[in-house]
Amino acid sequence: MAATALSAHKIPVSDYVAGIANGDRALLARAITLVESSNPEHGRIAQQVLQALLPKTGNAVRLGITGVPGVGKSTTIDQLGMNLIADGHLVAVLAIDPTSKRSGGSILGDKTRMSSLAQERNAFIRPSPSSGTLGGVTRRTRETMALVEAAGFDVVIVETVGVGQSEVAVSDMVDFFLVLLLAGGGDDLQGIKKGIIEIADMIAINKADGDNIKRAERAAGDYKNALQIFTPHGATWFPPVLTVSGQDNRGLKELWAKVLEHRKTMTDTGAFDARRQAQAVSWMRDMLEDRLMGALKANPDVGSELPKIEASVRNGTLLPTLAVDKVMAMMGL
Ligand code: GDP
Repeated sequence: MAATALSAHKIPVSDYVAGIANGDRALLARAITLVESSNPEHGRIAQQVLQALLPKTGNAVRLGITGVPGVGKSTTIDQLGMNLIADGHLVAVLAIDPTSKRSGGSILGDKTRMSSLAQERNAFIRPSPSSGTLGGVTRRTRETMALVEAAGFDVVIVETVGVGQSEVAVSDMVDFFLVLLLAGGGDDLQGIKKGIIEIADMIAINKADGDNIKRAERAAGDYKNALQIFTPHGATWFPPVLTVSGQDNRGLKELWAKVLEHRKTMTDTGAFDARRQAQAVSWMRDMLEDRLMGALKANPDVGSELPKIEASVRNGTLLPTLAVDKVMAMMGL
Protein backbone atom coordinates (compact mmCIF):
# COMPACT_ATOMS: atom_id res chain seq x y z
CA MET A 1 0.00 0.00 0.00
CA ALA A 2 2.69 2.43 1.07
CA ALA A 3 4.84 1.28 -1.84
CA THR A 4 2.35 2.34 -4.49
CA ALA A 5 1.45 5.55 -2.75
CA LEU A 6 5.10 6.46 -2.50
CA SER A 7 6.15 5.57 -6.03
CA ALA A 8 3.08 7.16 -7.60
CA HIS A 9 4.41 10.55 -6.68
CA LYS A 10 8.17 10.62 -6.38
CA ILE A 11 9.67 13.34 -4.26
CA PRO A 12 13.34 14.28 -4.75
CA VAL A 13 15.64 13.68 -1.79
CA SER A 14 16.44 17.40 -1.60
CA ASP A 15 12.73 18.18 -1.17
CA TYR A 16 12.46 15.72 1.69
CA VAL A 17 15.53 17.20 3.34
CA ALA A 18 14.42 20.83 3.00
CA GLY A 19 10.83 20.05 3.96
CA ILE A 20 11.70 18.06 7.06
CA ALA A 21 14.24 20.65 8.17
CA ASN A 22 11.39 23.17 7.91
CA GLY A 23 9.17 21.02 10.07
CA ASP A 24 6.83 19.93 7.25
CA ARG A 25 4.68 17.21 8.91
CA ALA A 26 3.41 15.67 5.69
CA LEU A 27 6.92 15.15 4.33
CA LEU A 28 8.08 13.90 7.71
CA ALA A 29 5.32 11.29 7.71
CA ARG A 30 6.17 10.25 4.15
CA ALA A 31 9.87 9.94 4.98
CA ILE A 32 8.99 7.71 7.93
CA THR A 33 6.93 5.57 5.58
CA LEU A 34 10.05 5.25 3.40
CA VAL A 35 12.06 4.21 6.46
CA GLU A 36 9.43 1.58 7.29
CA SER A 37 9.09 0.29 3.74
CA SER A 38 10.63 -3.03 2.80
CA ASN A 39 11.18 -1.84 -0.77
CA PRO A 40 14.98 -1.48 -1.30
CA GLU A 41 14.52 1.63 -3.46
CA HIS A 42 12.61 3.33 -0.65
CA GLY A 43 15.35 2.24 1.73
CA ARG A 44 17.98 3.91 -0.45
CA ILE A 45 16.08 7.20 -0.59
CA ALA A 46 15.50 7.05 3.17
CA GLN A 47 19.22 6.59 3.81
CA GLN A 48 20.09 9.58 1.63
CA VAL A 49 17.53 11.72 3.43
CA LEU A 50 18.84 10.56 6.81
CA GLN A 51 22.46 11.17 5.85
CA ALA A 52 21.69 14.71 4.69
CA LEU A 53 19.72 15.46 7.86
CA LEU A 54 22.29 13.94 10.21
CA PRO A 55 23.71 17.32 11.38
CA LYS A 56 20.23 18.31 12.53
CA THR A 57 19.70 15.21 14.66
CA GLY A 58 20.66 14.34 18.22
CA ASN A 59 19.38 17.44 19.98
CA ALA A 60 16.24 16.06 21.57
CA VAL A 61 15.72 14.75 25.05
CA ARG A 62 15.13 11.06 24.36
CA LEU A 63 12.91 9.50 26.98
CA GLY A 64 11.99 5.81 27.06
CA ILE A 65 8.90 4.69 28.97
CA THR A 66 7.94 1.12 29.73
CA GLY A 67 5.33 -0.66 31.79
CA VAL A 68 2.85 -3.51 31.52
CA PRO A 69 -0.42 -2.93 29.64
CA GLY A 70 -2.78 -0.98 31.89
CA VAL A 71 -0.08 0.68 34.00
CA GLY A 72 -1.03 4.02 32.47
CA LYS A 73 1.62 4.64 29.82
CA SER A 74 -0.63 6.36 27.32
CA THR A 75 -2.42 8.42 29.97
CA THR A 76 0.91 9.52 31.43
CA ILE A 77 2.50 10.26 28.05
CA ASP A 78 -0.59 12.20 26.98
CA GLN A 79 -0.46 14.38 30.11
CA LEU A 80 3.32 14.73 30.26
CA GLY A 81 3.33 15.62 26.56
CA MET A 82 0.68 18.29 27.09
CA ASN A 83 2.67 19.75 30.01
CA LEU A 84 5.79 19.90 27.85
CA ILE A 85 3.94 21.49 24.95
CA ALA A 86 2.56 24.11 27.34
CA ASP A 87 6.20 24.87 28.18
CA GLY A 88 7.01 25.39 24.50
CA HIS A 89 8.36 21.96 23.56
CA LEU A 90 7.63 19.95 20.45
CA VAL A 91 6.89 16.38 21.45
CA ALA A 92 7.15 13.23 19.34
CA VAL A 93 5.88 9.88 20.58
CA LEU A 94 7.19 6.70 18.95
CA ALA A 95 6.61 3.11 19.94
CA ILE A 96 8.48 -0.16 19.86
CA ASP A 97 6.21 -3.14 19.88
CA PRO A 98 7.50 -6.20 18.08
CA THR A 99 4.34 -8.08 19.08
CA SER A 100 2.08 -5.80 17.06
CA LYS A 101 2.28 -8.08 14.02
CA ARG A 102 0.83 -10.95 15.98
CA SER A 103 -1.83 -8.96 17.74
CA GLY A 104 -2.91 -7.58 14.38
CA GLY A 105 -2.31 -3.95 15.24
CA SER A 106 -0.22 -1.83 17.50
CA ILE A 107 -1.33 -1.36 21.06
CA LEU A 108 1.36 1.26 21.52
CA GLY A 109 1.78 4.74 20.17
CA ASP A 110 -1.83 4.62 19.16
CA LYS A 111 -3.38 8.01 18.55
CA THR A 112 -6.69 7.06 20.10
CA ARG A 113 -4.88 6.26 23.33
CA MET A 114 -3.41 9.76 23.54
CA SER A 115 -6.41 11.84 22.72
CA SER A 116 -5.10 15.25 23.81
CA LEU A 117 -1.73 14.90 22.10
CA ALA A 118 -3.40 13.52 18.99
CA GLN A 119 -5.14 16.86 18.47
CA GLU A 120 -2.10 18.94 19.26
CA ARG A 121 -0.20 20.45 16.35
CA ASN A 122 3.00 20.51 18.41
CA ALA A 123 2.86 16.75 18.89
CA PHE A 124 3.67 13.95 16.48
CA ILE A 125 2.55 10.43 17.28
CA ARG A 126 3.77 7.44 15.32
CA PRO A 127 2.74 3.89 16.19
CA SER A 128 5.18 1.01 16.15
CA PRO A 129 6.08 -0.31 12.69
CA SER A 130 3.59 -3.10 12.26
CA SER A 131 5.85 -5.87 11.13
CA GLY A 132 9.28 -7.31 11.47
CA THR A 133 11.72 -8.67 13.97
CA LEU A 134 12.69 -6.71 17.05
CA GLY A 135 15.91 -5.79 15.23
CA GLY A 136 13.99 -4.45 12.25
CA VAL A 137 11.49 -2.54 14.38
CA THR A 138 14.34 -1.09 16.43
CA ARG A 139 16.23 0.10 13.35
CA ARG A 140 13.14 1.82 11.98
CA THR A 141 12.39 3.49 15.30
CA ARG A 142 15.95 4.80 15.57
CA GLU A 143 15.74 6.22 12.07
CA THR A 144 12.33 7.69 12.77
CA MET A 145 13.78 9.30 15.89
CA ALA A 146 16.48 10.92 13.74
CA LEU A 147 13.84 12.24 11.33
CA VAL A 148 11.61 13.76 14.02
CA GLU A 149 14.64 15.38 15.63
CA ALA A 150 15.62 16.89 12.29
CA ALA A 151 12.04 18.19 12.02
CA GLY A 152 12.57 20.12 15.26
CA PHE A 153 10.97 17.88 17.88
CA ASP A 154 13.01 18.47 21.02
CA VAL A 155 11.43 15.77 23.16
CA VAL A 156 11.13 12.25 21.80
CA ILE A 157 9.26 9.73 23.93
CA VAL A 158 9.71 6.09 22.98
CA GLU A 159 7.07 3.87 24.46
CA THR A 160 7.36 0.13 24.88
CA VAL A 161 5.43 -2.56 26.62
CA GLY A 162 6.86 -4.48 29.56
CA VAL A 163 7.70 -7.66 27.72
CA GLY A 164 10.95 -9.31 26.75
CA GLN A 165 13.80 -7.70 24.91
CA SER A 166 12.00 -4.62 23.67
CA GLU A 167 12.82 -2.81 26.90
CA VAL A 168 16.52 -3.40 26.49
CA ALA A 169 16.22 -2.22 22.88
CA VAL A 170 14.52 1.01 23.97
CA SER A 171 16.94 1.67 26.82
CA ASP A 172 19.66 1.38 24.19
CA MET A 173 18.28 4.27 22.15
CA VAL A 174 17.22 6.79 24.79
CA ASP A 175 18.96 9.08 27.28
CA PHE A 176 16.64 8.25 30.13
CA PHE A 177 14.65 5.09 30.76
CA LEU A 178 11.56 5.38 32.92
CA VAL A 179 9.81 2.35 34.36
CA LEU A 180 6.16 2.79 35.31
CA LEU A 181 4.86 0.43 37.97
CA LEU A 182 1.75 0.02 40.05
CA ALA A 183 1.41 -0.53 43.75
CA GLY A 184 0.00 -4.03 43.84
CA GLY A 185 -0.78 -6.44 46.62
CA GLY A 186 2.17 -8.62 47.47
CA ASP A 187 4.08 -8.30 44.24
CA ASP A 188 5.39 -4.81 44.74
CA LEU A 189 8.86 -5.87 43.75
CA GLN A 190 7.72 -7.27 40.39
CA GLY A 191 10.09 -5.06 38.39
CA ILE A 192 13.09 -6.20 40.32
CA LYS A 193 12.41 -9.83 39.54
CA LYS A 194 12.39 -8.99 35.86
CA GLY A 195 15.83 -7.40 35.98
CA ILE A 196 14.45 -4.16 34.64
CA ILE A 197 15.81 -2.25 37.56
CA GLU A 198 19.29 -2.53 36.08
CA ILE A 199 18.30 -0.42 33.10
CA ALA A 200 15.89 1.95 34.88
CA ASP A 201 16.99 5.56 35.35
CA MET A 202 13.87 6.19 37.38
CA ILE A 203 10.86 4.32 38.70
CA ALA A 204 7.48 6.00 38.92
CA ILE A 205 4.64 4.34 40.79
CA ASN A 206 1.60 5.42 38.79
CA LYS A 207 -2.05 5.87 39.79
CA ALA A 208 -1.04 7.56 43.04
CA ASP A 209 -4.40 9.24 43.39
CA GLY A 210 -7.55 8.94 45.50
CA ASP A 211 -7.28 6.28 48.16
CA ASN A 212 -4.34 4.69 46.34
CA ILE A 213 -1.86 7.38 47.40
CA LYS A 214 -0.77 5.69 50.64
CA ARG A 215 -0.28 2.33 48.95
CA ALA A 216 1.73 3.96 46.16
CA GLU A 217 3.95 5.68 48.69
CA ARG A 218 4.54 2.44 50.54
CA ALA A 219 5.46 0.73 47.28
CA ALA A 220 7.83 3.59 46.46
CA GLY A 221 9.53 3.04 49.82
CA ASP A 222 9.99 -0.65 49.06
CA TYR A 223 11.51 0.12 45.68
CA LYS A 224 13.82 2.73 47.16
CA ASN A 225 15.19 0.17 49.59
CA ALA A 226 15.59 -2.41 46.87
CA LEU A 227 17.34 0.03 44.55
CA GLN A 228 19.97 0.69 47.20
CA ILE A 229 20.98 -2.93 46.87
CA PHE A 230 21.02 -2.91 43.09
CA THR A 231 22.72 0.38 42.33
CA PRO A 232 26.51 0.01 42.24
CA HIS A 233 28.46 1.93 44.85
CA GLY A 234 29.73 5.24 43.50
CA ALA A 235 27.35 5.30 40.53
CA THR A 236 26.94 8.67 38.78
CA TRP A 237 23.17 8.47 39.01
CA PHE A 238 21.04 6.95 41.69
CA PRO A 239 17.62 6.10 40.14
CA PRO A 240 14.94 7.97 42.06
CA VAL A 241 11.53 6.53 42.87
CA LEU A 242 8.53 8.84 42.50
CA THR A 243 4.80 8.48 42.89
CA VAL A 244 2.75 10.00 40.09
CA SER A 245 -0.73 10.14 38.69
CA GLY A 246 -0.89 10.53 34.93
CA GLN A 247 -4.62 10.91 35.22
CA ASP A 248 -4.49 13.76 37.78
CA ASN A 249 -1.27 15.31 36.46
CA ARG A 250 0.32 14.71 39.83
CA GLY A 251 4.10 14.37 40.17
CA LEU A 252 4.76 14.86 36.46
CA LYS A 253 6.54 18.17 36.99
CA GLU A 254 8.90 16.47 39.44
CA LEU A 255 9.29 13.60 37.00
CA TRP A 256 10.43 15.93 34.21
CA ALA A 257 12.71 17.81 36.62
CA LYS A 258 14.44 14.49 37.35
CA VAL A 259 14.90 13.84 33.64
CA LEU A 260 16.63 17.22 33.29
CA GLU A 261 18.67 16.73 36.45
CA HIS A 262 19.87 13.39 35.12
CA ARG A 263 20.81 15.03 31.82
CA LYS A 264 22.86 17.67 33.59
CA THR A 265 24.59 15.19 35.88
CA MET A 266 25.40 12.87 32.98
CA THR A 267 26.59 15.76 30.79
CA ASP A 268 28.82 17.18 33.51
CA THR A 269 30.53 13.85 34.06
CA GLY A 270 30.89 13.02 30.36
CA ALA A 271 28.60 10.01 30.77
CA PHE A 272 26.00 11.54 28.46
CA ASP A 273 28.29 11.64 25.42
CA ALA A 274 29.65 8.21 26.27
CA ARG A 275 26.12 6.77 26.32
CA ARG A 276 25.19 8.39 23.01
CA GLN A 277 28.42 7.18 21.41
CA ALA A 278 27.93 3.63 22.64
CA GLN A 279 24.36 3.76 21.32
CA ALA A 280 25.57 4.85 17.88
CA VAL A 281 27.87 1.84 17.74
CA SER A 282 25.16 -0.49 18.94
CA TRP A 283 22.85 1.00 16.28
CA MET A 284 25.46 0.16 13.67
CA ARG A 285 25.89 -3.39 14.97
CA ASP A 286 22.15 -4.04 15.11
CA MET A 287 21.81 -2.80 11.56
CA LEU A 288 24.70 -4.95 10.41
CA GLU A 289 23.10 -8.03 11.96
CA ASP A 290 19.78 -7.10 10.40
CA ARG A 291 21.35 -6.65 6.95
CA LEU A 292 23.36 -9.87 7.21
CA MET A 293 20.24 -11.81 8.08
CA GLY A 294 18.41 -10.03 5.26
CA ALA A 295 21.16 -10.96 2.78
CA LEU A 296 21.08 -14.50 4.04
CA LYS A 297 17.37 -14.87 3.53
CA ALA A 298 17.53 -13.18 0.13
CA ASN A 299 20.15 -15.67 -1.09
CA PRO A 300 18.26 -18.07 -3.39
CA ASP A 301 20.27 -21.15 -2.34
CA VAL A 302 19.82 -20.47 1.34
CA GLY A 303 16.20 -19.48 0.82
CA SER A 304 15.31 -22.84 -0.68
CA GLU A 305 17.57 -24.95 1.54
CA LEU A 306 16.93 -23.29 4.90
CA PRO A 307 13.53 -24.91 5.56
CA LYS A 308 15.06 -28.35 4.85
CA ILE A 309 18.06 -27.64 7.04
CA GLU A 310 15.80 -26.46 9.84
CA ALA A 311 13.67 -29.59 9.46
CA SER A 312 16.78 -31.75 9.85
CA VAL A 313 17.79 -29.83 12.96
CA ARG A 314 14.28 -30.16 14.31
CA ASN A 315 14.14 -33.94 13.87
CA GLY A 316 17.61 -34.37 15.28
CA THR A 317 19.39 -35.64 12.16
CA LEU A 318 21.61 -32.58 11.83
CA LEU A 319 23.56 -30.86 14.58
CA PRO A 320 22.85 -27.10 14.85
CA THR A 321 26.58 -26.39 14.51
CA LEU A 322 26.82 -28.33 11.26
CA ALA A 323 23.65 -26.67 10.01
CA VAL A 324 25.22 -23.26 10.56
CA ASP A 325 28.41 -24.43 8.79
CA LYS A 326 26.28 -25.50 5.83
CA VAL A 327 24.47 -22.16 5.61
CA MET A 328 27.72 -20.22 5.94
CA ALA A 329 29.27 -22.29 3.15
CA MET A 330 26.31 -21.49 0.90
CA MET A 331 27.00 -17.82 1.55
CA GLY A 332 30.65 -18.37 0.65
CA LEU A 333 31.70 -17.54 4.23
P1 GDP B 1 -1.37 1.64 29.17
O1 GDP B 1 -1.93 0.35 28.67
O2 GDP B 1 -0.15 1.42 29.99
O3 GDP B 1 -1.14 2.64 28.09
O4 GDP B 1 -2.44 2.26 30.17
P2 GDP B 1 -3.58 3.36 29.92
O5 GDP B 1 -2.98 4.72 29.95
O6 GDP B 1 -4.36 2.98 28.73
O7 GDP B 1 -4.45 3.20 31.24
C1 GDP B 1 -5.07 1.99 31.59
C2 GDP B 1 -6.24 2.29 32.51
O8 GDP B 1 -5.79 2.88 33.72
C3 GDP B 1 -7.25 3.27 31.90
O9 GDP B 1 -8.53 2.85 32.28
C4 GDP B 1 -6.89 4.57 32.54
O10 GDP B 1 -8.00 5.43 32.66
C5 GDP B 1 -6.39 4.15 33.91
N1 GDP B 1 -5.35 5.09 34.40
C6 GDP B 1 -4.27 5.52 33.72
N2 GDP B 1 -3.54 6.36 34.47
C7 GDP B 1 -4.17 6.46 35.66
C8 GDP B 1 -3.90 7.18 36.88
O11 GDP B 1 -2.93 7.92 37.01
N3 GDP B 1 -4.79 7.00 37.90
C9 GDP B 1 -5.87 6.19 37.81
N4 GDP B 1 -6.66 6.08 38.87
N5 GDP B 1 -6.15 5.50 36.68
C10 GDP B 1 -5.32 5.64 35.64
